[in-house]
Amino acid sequence: MQLIDPFGRKINYLRLSITDRCNLRCLYCMPAEGVAKLRHDDVLSYEQLLQVARAAVAIGVEKIRITGGEPLARKGVLPFLEQLAEIPGLQRLVLTTNGILLPPVAHDLRRIGIESLNISLDSLRSETFHRITRGGDLQQVLAGIAAAEQAGFPYVKINVVVMRGINDDEVPDFAAMTVDKPYKVRFIEYMPTLKQGNWQEMCVPGEELLSRLSERYALEPAPAEPMAGPASYRRIKGAAGMVGIITPVSCHFCRECNRIRVTSTGVAKSCLFSRDTTDLKSILQTGDHEALQEALRRVVTAKPDRHQLDASHEPDHQVPMSQVGG
Ligand code: SAM
Ligand code: SF4
Repeated sequence: MQLIDPFGRKINYLRLSITDRCNLRCLYCMPAEGVAKLRHDDVLSYEQLLQVARAAVAIGVEKIRITGGEPLARKGVLPFLEQLAEIPGLQRLVLTTNGILLPPVAHDLRRIGIESLNISLDSLRSETFHRITRGGDLQQVLAGIAAAEQAGFPYVKINVVVMRGINDDEVPDFAAMTVDKPYKVRFIEYMPTLKQGNWQEMCVPGEELLSRLSERYALEPAPAEPMAGPASYRRIKGAAGMVGIITPVSCHFCRECNRIRVTSTGVAKSCLFSRDTTDLKSILQTGDHEALQEALRRVVTAKPDRHQLDASHEPDHQVPMSQVGG
């Protein structure tokens, strides 16, 4: 079974957020005051999340990324992941985390069958990390990365949101991490999800990053992965790992977009920046599996050909990633 949208794109990837809560408060992701806490009842139960995942796989989804908020901060996440991994037809189960809570669970995640981990890390300097995350401890994330390696994940992806004047001078240091270790360090363009006024100044285009990097290192093209995300990879000559750029702002990857999203409250979205949403929760409450599959198919049918990230005519349209599941 294949899910093809009206623009001929094969949709086989679901990003499933299991919580909007987080133990950090990154300045590009959450407003300083945080976001209003959802009531326990508003958040999908693990059983409901499993139903969404099963319905998605039944209609053609092959890869699921668990995200949040901070997914490892939700109680009972391991048994949930175990059940998720057993869904017949699901080919790849992956997870995005800030890494803080990884050390005690990294081995379990590997045992369960999580194929790879994306760990977010925006600075290698304690003070800058503390500032970006509004209070986080860099050493905890580094311990999380070490735990992932020890658990035997073949590679670890490190996601760096690059912000001019805040951490863009650290790009070469991040790239240097790939020389000896099989890390995939991915530089992500900063997106104006909170409608920050100065976002254009803060966003460093991926091409600029590549040209800065190639002044310092000899870069070679590196192969894309199967069912690849939007990263375009290079390898420092002779390096064990790779560097990648993810350019949602400067270079739409919409033409290759293969994803849909479901938030922890059961809201399905065909595009991060779309206002068009589908409430799956009410359908989940009826227990009608056919209707759930049908609703997900409609989400795919409604997928826009490209995002409206520059929707300056919608100044109030904030999309805190912690709620949508970045
Ligand atoms: N808490 C986990 C983490 O930080 O990895 C998972 C959820 S977080 C919302 C997922 C990803 O979204 C992170 O890699 C984060 O850097 C990215 N993200 C959040 N807001 C962003 C923004 N405004 N621009 C670019 N990336 C963003
Ligand atoms: Fe939390 Fe991840 Fe958002 Fe940072 S990016 S506030 S770690 S959800």
